[in-house]
Amino acid sequence: MPTFSLDDGFHDASRTVPGKRMTPPEVDRPLLAYETALGICLSAVDRCVPEETVDIAKSLGRVLRQDVTSGIAVPPFDKSAMDGYAVKQDDVKSASEKKPVVLKVVDEIPAGTVSDVVLRSGEAARIMTGAPLPVGADAVIRLEKTESAQAGLVQVYGKVDENNYVIYKGQDLLPGTRVASAGTIVEPALMGIMANCGVCDVKVSCPPSVGIISTGSELVPPGTRLQGGQIYDVNSYLLYGLCAMAGCDVSILGRVVDKSCDLLSLLNSHSDVDLLLLSGGMSVGDYDIVHETLKRAGVEEIFWRVRIKPGKPLFFGRRGSALVFGLPGNPVSSATNFYLFVLPVIDKLLGKSSWGLETGYAVLGNSMLFRPGRRKFLRAKLRRDGASHVAWVLNEQRSGVLSPMVDADILVEVPEDARMVKDGDVVKVYYL
Ligand code: AMP
Ligand code: MG
Repeated sequence: MPTFSLDDGFHDASRTVPGKRMTPPEVDRPLLAYETALGICLSAVDRCVPEETVDIAKSLGRVLRQDVTSGIAVPPFDKSAMDGYAVKQDDVKSASEKKPVVLKVVDEIPAGTVSDVVLRSGEAARIMTGAPLPVGADAVIRLEKTESAQAGLVQVYGKVDENNYVIYKGQDLLPGTRVASAGTIVEPALMGIMANCGVCDVKVSCPPSVGIISTGSELVPPGTRLQGGQIYDVNSYLLYGLCAMAGCDVSILGRVVDKSCDLLSLLNSHSDVDLLLLSGGMSVGDYDIVHETLKRAGVEEIFWRVRIKPGKPLFFGRRGSALVFGLPGNPVSSATNFYLFVLPVIDKLLGKSSWGLETGYAVLGNSMLFRPGRRKFLRAKLRRDGASHVAWVLNEQRSGVLSPMVDADILVEVPEDARMVKDGDVVKVYYL
């Protein structure tokens, strides 16, 4: 995971003064519907990031860019699943506690060795878990069901039941079996399975590069003493964390005051990223200079403003090969926009087989009233209640209050036209 660097080119906000916007905001423009906006974002991703080959030990959390196929049978030979004795089933079918069968022990086979014995009727071989069965054996008797009272002989106290304790060659995987498809995220079990097949390196996506810029004359970095009207910059850290968790290589490009020329010079010094995320100053206030500055910096606007709450002022555009998101300054709105729009774009860039947060359905635990008009995404907690999942919407939903975000494990979607949702309603949820 990339490391967070505080001295990564932060602009010193204290040295320069803010400036008002030069053009009036286009407030009468219609807002896009959520799906329309998301569809536009996804169709703007017309490529995947490059791929690289890595050792499977370094593949954890990466996105596969190839199918992975086993070149061998797994296991590669018939092997014992227990410590005991390899036998011929027919020899022990009359064995019981009262009337044990006595067999001659002709070999001892530890794991990692191959016996050169061919087992004949009346014979057994001492065998350890994981060792290959000797030729002629067709079952293993667990050690617990045997006794070796006399040197060179073993007494078997039970016949072979439904489990013969043999794992057959190819029982796990046959040669040519596909164990993972391109677009899959490598998880620990898959690392194990790839090792099991003898695969030592795989093609994965390179991390998309993301640049983050926070705008706002009130922002100072944590570690500084707050002066009147100042607050600490949250979004540089929040967005850094979200992007890094999504598999990106993140650079904090700077923090600038609400002054167009400062933002312009920062934008012009960083063009070589896959994604540029700006936060703050995207709305219609007198000092919200980001929208017009992006245009001045040559960012082609694709859309601005979506019919959702929180996160309405979202801007999406492109400059060269970089996709540009202008996110609202309120950290909750920024994070919600990230989950709904930026994450699917990152996932598509990475070549993942599915994009964005996983979704599902849950039963609501509480009731709420709304003003209709925008699709709402409410922070909530998911609780298991018997067989069903119950979504409890958190009391605090103001986008300026970040703390409940730590408790939330889902977003609950409320349709645009809903005036109310009730306890017991089934709602769509997005797993955070
Ligand atoms: P804006 O989108 O610039 O109008 O900002 C909306 C609200 O979010 C204001 O209260 C800002 O102070 C706050 N805000 C903007 N950027 C940040 C940030 N990076 N960290 C914390 N709060 C912010
Ligand atoms: Mg602002």
